[in-house]
Amino acid sequence: MHLPSRRKFDLIVVGGGAAGFMAAITASERGNLSVLLIEANSQTLEKVRISGGGRCNVTNACWDPKDLVLNYPRGSSWILNSFRRFASGDAVAWFAERGVNLITEKDGRMFPSSNSSSEIISCLRHTAQSSGVNIRTNLKVKIVKKLSTNEFSITCSDESSFNSRSVLLATGSNPSGRKIATDLGHTIVKPVPSLYSFQARSNDITTCSGLALNNVDLKLITTNKTFYERGRILITHWGFSGPSILRLSAFAARELYFDNYKFNLIINWINCDFATVNSIFDNCRANNGNKTLHSCNPFSDIPKRLWLIFLKRVGIDQSIKWAELKLTKKKQLINILFLDNYSIKGRGPFKDEFVTAGGIPLEEVNLSNMESLKTSDLFFAGELMDVDGITGGFNFQHCWTSGWIAGSFISKKYSRSK
Ligand SMILES: Cc1cc2nc3c(=O)[nH]c(=O)nc-3n(C[C@H](O)[C@H](O)[C@H](O)COP(=O)(O)OP(=O)(O)OC[C@H]3O[C@@H](n4cnc5c(N)ncnc54)[C@H](O)[C@@H]3O)c2cc1C
Repeated sequence: MHLPSRRKFDLIVVGGGAAGFMAAITASERGNLSVLLIEANSQTLEKVRISGGGRCNVTNACWDPKDLVLNYPRGSSWILNSFRRFASGDAVAWFAERGVNLITEKDGRMFPSSNSSSEIISCLRHTAQSSGVNIRTNLKVKIVKKLSTNEFSITCSDESSFNSRSVLLATGSNPSGRKIATDLGHTIVKPVPSLYSFQARSNDITTCSGLALNNVDLKLITTNKTFYERGRILITHWGFSGPSILRLSAFAARELYFDNYKFNLIINWINCDFATVNSIFDNCRANNGNKTLHSCNPFSDIPKRLWLIFLKRVGIDQSIKWAELKLTKKKQLINILFLDNYSIKGRGPFKDEFVTAGGIPLEEVNLSNMESLKTSDLFFAGELMDVDGITGGFNFQHCWTSGWIAGSFISKKYSRSK
């Protein structure tokens, strides 16, 4: 779209991701404002496109704001009031009103019924267009200055510039947004990765790559704190991944960063107590004494490949019979099942983190309207703020919530004084 340079807008949104679109649409629809959204990439909504493995996990069927906030390792207590105004149910209704129905999976994750992120992208682009949002792509905002007239002057990478009565930064994890914010008086909570897999030092476990186990107990020990999780894990070519591992990486994101991603992970593979395991071993010895440890794995939750790795690790010959299992070896085996200790040497090799923790400190933002407490008429939304969720649609939910709250306020404030 060709726009005359130096045109004055009511709102300029920097960043065409989920948060920027929600803010721009809400401001434009509700306040009939002149809105320009500027995106550095050639396409808007790139992260929406790749999200959820191309399906876009839009939100989560977690309806009560008090439950919803528990899924945010950072920002949790601060954003409760935001969710009281716009939570998962509101996001579901918002998309339904615009023709997108969301379906819920067993674990609460919600996806568009087409199972394709392109449905969300089309909805957001089409709604932005019909509500009159101007969009410029391939244009990076370099400098945002507050003028003595109280307007903002925005200068872009191609030296074009625009004026605006208000600016909303929705630049996600991109450093340029944080630089613009610091130039306008903000501090930044150090950005660190969150939601990533773990790389194990030992490589016997990685021969079991592809195995997924449910109800596994995890204990992650960092220098300053210990974290616990129970749930599903996936053994990968490099170590561990899966929902519980990603949750641990999120809740321990800062501690792991300070430990340079070197820590111990203790896995309890079996979901029962010591006495039960002991009696399972004794029963096997009594009833299957003639069977080999290779052929008879008494734990239905432990896949055979993993069982054989455990036998090898404690030096048990797979071909011995249960009746021949020595007490010391039995104890070692039970120890592995209960307290399997892995030395983790780093994050997943593909730097597969999904979100950035850190950003604009929430104490520098008026969370009732997302306006900066350092520079008036400056607003924030989405991942740029120091709020991040675990996997399950919670990160997009914060984008919808913060974008909607900012857009609603901007629509009132600037249409009133037009
Ligand atoms: C692979 C992957 C899968 C994911 N899947 C899910 C999922 O299914 N569900 C979920 O809830 N979350 C998911 N997430 C997390 C989610 O995508 C992000 O939290 C969310 O996209 C953040 O939205 P945002 O609008 O704040 O920022 P972004 O989506 O990052 O958008 C910011 C935009 O600003 C632009 N920009 C930055 N600086 C400038 C500048 N100076 N000038 C102009 N433009 C600029 C960027 O190019 C970018 O397009 C996933 C993340 C990844 C990486």
